[in-house]
Amino acid sequence: MQKQWVYLLDEVEQAEKAVGGRWDDVRALLGGKGANLAEMVRIGIPVPPGFTITTQACNTYLSSGGNFPEGLWDQVLQAVTELERQSGHTFGDPKNPLLVSCRSGAKFSMPGMMDTVLNIGLNDETAQGLIEMTGNARFVYDSFRRLVQMFGSVVMGIPDDAFEERISACRLDAGAATDAELSAENLQQLTDAFKGIFRHYTHTDFPSHPHAQLKMAIEAVFKSWNGKRAVDYRNAAGIAHDLGTAVNIVTMVFGNLGNDSLTGVALTRNGTTGENRMEGDYLINAQGEDVVAGIRRTLDLVQLKTDMPDIHAQFEQIARRLEAHYRDMQDVEFTVEKGKLWMLQTRSGKRTAQAAVRIAVDMAEENLITRQEAVLRITPEQVDFFLHPQFDREARAAAKAKGTMLAIGLNVSPGAAVGIVAFDADLAEAWAKNEHKAVIMVRPETRPDDVHGMLAAQGILTSRGGRTSHAALVARQFGKPAVVGVAELNIDIKQRQMSINHEIIKEGDWISIDGTAGEVFSGRIATMIPDIMDAWLMKLLSWADGFRRLGVRTNADNPEDARRARLYGAEGIGLCRTEHMFFEARRLPHLHKMIMTDLPIERREALDALLPFQREDFIGLFRAMDGLPVITRLIDPPLHEFLPDHKELSHDLTDLKIRLKHADTLEKVDTLLQQINEKAHILKRVERLHESNPMLGLRGVRLGIQLPELTTMQVRAIFEAACTVAKEGVEVHPEVMLPLISHVNELISQREILEVEAKKVMHEQGIEIDYKFGTMIEVPRATLVAHQLAQHAEFFSFGTNDLTQTTFGMSRDDAEAGFLIRYIGTGIMPENPFATLDRDGVGELMALCVQKGRAIRSDLECGICGEHGGDPKSIALCHEIGLTYVSCSPLRVPVARLCAAHAALQDHCSCAVEGIQSAMPV
Ligand code: PEP
Ligand code: MG
Repeated sequence: MQKQWVYLLDEVEQAEKAVGGRWDDVRALLGGKGANLAEMVRIGIPVPPGFTITTQACNTYLSSGGNFPEGLWDQVLQAVTELERQSGHTFGDPKNPLLVSCRSGAKFSMPGMMDTVLNIGLNDETAQGLIEMTGNARFVYDSFRRLVQMFGSVVMGIPDDAFEERISACRLDAGAATDAELSAENLQQLTDAFKGIFRHYTHTDFPSHPHAQLKMAIEAVFKSWNGKRAVDYRNAAGIAHDLGTAVNIVTMVFGNLGNDSLTGVALTRNGTTGENRMEGDYLINAQGEDVVAGIRRTLDLVQLKTDMPDIHAQFEQIARRLEAHYRDMQDVEFTVEKGKLWMLQTRSGKRTAQAAVRIAVDMAEENLITRQEAVLRITPEQVDFFLHPQFDREARAAAKAKGTMLAIGLNVSPGAAVGIVAFDADLAEAWAKNEHKAVIMVRPETRPDDVHGMLAAQGILTSRGGRTSHAALVARQFGKPAVVGVAELNIDIKQRQMSINHEIIKEGDWISIDGTAGEVFSGRIATMIPDIMDAWLMKLLSWADGFRRLGVRTNADNPEDARRARLYGAEGIGLCRTEHMFFEARRLPHLHKMIMTDLPIERREALDALLPFQREDFIGLFRAMDGLPVITRLIDPPLHEFLPDHKELSHDLTDLKIRLKHADTLEKVDTLLQQINEKAHILKRVERLHESNPMLGLRGVRLGIQLPELTTMQVRAIFEAACTVAKEGVEVHPEVMLPLISHVNELISQREILEVEAKKVMHEQGIEIDYKFGTMIEVPRATLVAHQLAQHAEFFSFGTNDLTQTTFGMSRDDAEAGFLIRYIGTGIMPENPFATLDRDGVGELMALCVQKGRAIRSDLECGICGEHGGDPKSIALCHEIGLTYVSCSPLRVPVARLCAAHAALQDHCSCAVEGIQSAMPV
């Protein structure tokens, strides 16, 4: 039996049967648009008659080098006959012509990335017939010139500008401000002129046979799947390249048939804020692309209530029904033809991160979806977006006071962006990618061809377009701050400059835009990470907390970071790198002294001087983390890292020696000699400490074994701090951790020192503190002897930065700047193992380690504190291998809470996030 390439819109059941019943597969077969049109027909929503050519047909066409699959054209012709029957019009009949649209529609929406041709079926004869039928010559020639233009640019690749220039000239000649003011005669002339352009570029006449038009349009849509902008978009959005696009052929209904006709788009909730209020635009007496293109000023949907109250009520009811049916915010397209409402599309609406969170939370509270679904609908990138830069409040106020605010436009995609102006997408991309410049892409309006520039830019600014314009949709989807529709903005692309209220800004000048407020400033405004978290996000994350099994801690070594992390939901400190505390100017001299001296007494003095500093640091941390565990890791890096650089020292020494030669007073000689002695001493020490492989040298626990006084001082500082704050009533849970353990005896020897010192301090302070002693797992050997380590450690923490380095035998400081990038680029390695845990190697070792450790100590706490602790994929792996918690930087804490919940929820429900987003309609 011949394969079914074509499904009528009322054949959704057949399509379901063909793919085995799963809605996701119906979408894969018919594309999102086709599947949703068919679904609307099934539930009785008015959709014009139509049919869908499957994605399989597209893939077969493309893989065969551009041949229609066998039987496809016959099935198309049959379907057209059915359309003729349903609509009562006939394709190519001069007296009663049927016109159709031909639109792409992939499984995942790719707005504007592929091709569309409207009004197929018009030629000189049918145009006459249509004029007789409608008595509206203006409408007919408006439709005809659009067909020639779209067909010319989409199917034949004629530059759009050729048509646009002609239309501008026509407006000028006719003294018309907008296209709507052009007369039937103007439009007829324009149609002829467009046919001339067509002939000029293609050396053929515009095809007059409707079947030829249809066949060529279908092929153009198939081919557009592999067009540059579609490929770029899929790369950016992570959409597979082998899905193919479906083609939807739908009977034309006309929004340009007079003042009782209109066309519009709407979102069932606000796509920027998520507020549960419908928003949309429409245009009376126009066709669909006019609304999206932003060429004419659209009317707010609210106005429709006054213009056509019945239609408004009917539309609102349908839109609400669609939202409830799909259990998600919908983006719909509609047309009113002579007072009759038709729905032309529904799909999940694009939204900002804020809107996504608010909609998910509101829908769960409206019982439209479950809380689990709400949590699963939010991606880590969306949570991350909340921590994106905003303008510093004072800097913004200062800019306003200085009068650098240029204009206010539509705030369609939040966040602040600062960059230099680039007036075209290629330049924006070149500046951003090749010269690492921060760029704001400025355009009158954006088109699908501009997407690569938009992705490369920090932000987007346009002078035209509305909330549903291309710029707004794309910016929202990719989380780029954007301000659109700044009407005062005069962009002169030829002069490469723009002006707002007499101020001229040239390409390359700095501007700052605020997509949250819609404000545009000249110059640069400082940005900051927002401090206060959104109420809806807080609620969503609190639900996520209820689902996750992994704990979430933070890596912090100062009270401010600790407080911020706690505000973001951290449940303790998973790693305090104590060496970071030594770098401060007041402390470094004591540290230098400790390192430089060979005399135990001097070392003791230096450590005694450092003790109060460390104690104060820990006091701050314990107070900030009142009631929560705080893991402090004893000093890790090799000592030479705290001394000046060898090259610098040698250079300084040579310099001093030269100055000594030229010294002209005894006093100068004395001072210089003293300085030379000091430098030479330090240099000698640096040379003595020098190692060929410092990463594998005297660092971590090895340092504490070499200098037991150092461990003692750090332990004393921790316990003195813990006792002090405990006396204040703060609940402390210190956990002391040793780095880079590879042999159990290292652990045993250090634990002895720690126990003695801890007891001593508690005795002195007269207070008992409950504490834990544990080890980092950073070398493969430690994972293999985990059963031995677990006998002496109450917790393990995977230092996966080092564990990745030592497992791969790759320097973490060098690989990422060198061969590793090539490895990833050429596919030798699928991912950067320093960013995402290597499941097969490092992950296996971790799993083995947890298993061996818990076999000895069933309540062994196992966490991760390497950078992977904030990476979504790595968090899922940590959940799988049963870690107790992940620890990450404060800014990653909210993301980690969400990812941990996703991991837990995916254990229980077979539906992945994607599955839920494209859920089978109820
Ligand atoms: C690690 O190695 O993963 C770790 C957390 O320690 P550091 O990065 O300080 O070496
Ligand atoms: Mg480490």
